[in-house]
Amino acid sequence: MHIQDIFKRQRPTFSFEFFPPKNPKTASALYDTILSLASHDPSFVSVTYGAGGSTRELTHDLVLKIKETTNIPPIPHLTCVAHSKDEITQTLERYAKAGIGNILALRGDPPANMTNYDRSSDAFFYASDLVRHIKEFNVTGIHPDSRGFGIGIAAFPEGHPDTPNRLKEMDYLKEKVDAGADYICTQLFFDNHDFFDFRDRCRLAGINIPIIAGIMPITSAKGINRMAELAGGAHFPARLLRALRRAGDNQEAVERVGIHHAAEQCLGLLDNDVDGIHLYTLNQSKATREVYASLGLANSAD
Ligand SMILES: Cc1cc2nc3c(=O)[nH]c(=O)nc-3n(C[C@H](O)[C@H](O)[C@H](O)COP(=O)(O)OP(=O)(O)OC[C@H]3O[C@@H](n4cnc5c(N)ncnc54)[C@H](O)[C@@H]3O)c2cc1C
Repeated sequence: MHIQDIFKRQRPTFSFEFFPPKNPKTASALYDTILSLASHDPSFVSVTYGAGGSTRELTHDLVLKIKETTNIPPIPHLTCVAHSKDEITQTLERYAKAGIGNILALRGDPPANMTNYDRSSDAFFYASDLVRHIKEFNVTGIHPDSRGFGIGIAAFPEGHPDTPNRLKEMDYLKEKVDAGADYICTQLFFDNHDFFDFRDRCRLAGINIPIIAGIMPITSAKGINRMAELAGGAHFPARLLRALRRAGDNQEAVERVGIHHAAEQCLGLLDNDVDGIHLYTLNQSKATREVYASLGLANSAD
């Protein structure tokens, strides 16, 4: 289902993100998680793409399995670092033929073991180049929907580490939108002010496509630093930090703080006309289910 139709059917959208399983054991656990979250009738789920294409087949296989066995539209992520034009086109053809409605188009980062990776032979340098390529693909008629793929792009309410200032970053985001994106999904953030400020700046810049807020419930003390690192340095509001400090090494207490904070964030976003909420599940269902249940949404009884 094209993202424009998903928004027509439900706004705000509620969606979940998964990463592909590494082996048969985690594959089966992940599938159980997906089925347990499917009862919440999410607007869509998305599946990440490993750096440099490291999960190309795994992402593809999970996306198709979700499409074939559930009623949830799956959205594959696709990154262009370390890929040729042919590789990207072949991936698009496979998804188009399988009737996948949307792609989240990203630049990606070089794989961790390739820190000095030379990008000069990459076919697409920025995500905007990939968006343009998908738009060109969309007019080939290979996709069963005459509009072709709906296209999502990433954005960073607190700024992306590669860009020196927010003004430039907004110009680059606008370029990506003008290339043909249908919606934006943000990086995780812990302070809604960062999101509202970012959304206002988007609207001032003439970016009027839906902006979905990325929320990740903190579930472990160990994972907090990693999360902030992944997000390029997300800032933690003082109140959240104090609660996490009080929780210390008590895993259960940390989880309660994390889930409570994420639920409060979601309530604040819903009260302020957010277009959608995307929960980063880390392939676990408990925190997502509890956050969801706190929002008073239908299908949240289990
Ligand atoms: C919702 C979401 C999902 C993600 N999923 C994945 C995933 O599945 N797999 C994965 O590997 N990574 C994923 N990422 C991480 C993402 O790939 C990295 O953060 C990457 O560094 C930026 O990707 P982008 O698509 O925003 O790139 P771009 O939009 O290309 O931006 C990259 C940087 O270049 C700057 N820039 C853009 N255009 C120009 C220009 N014309 N001139 C100069 N500078 C420019 C931008 O401001 C930014 O700093 C995800 C991120 C988000 C927010």
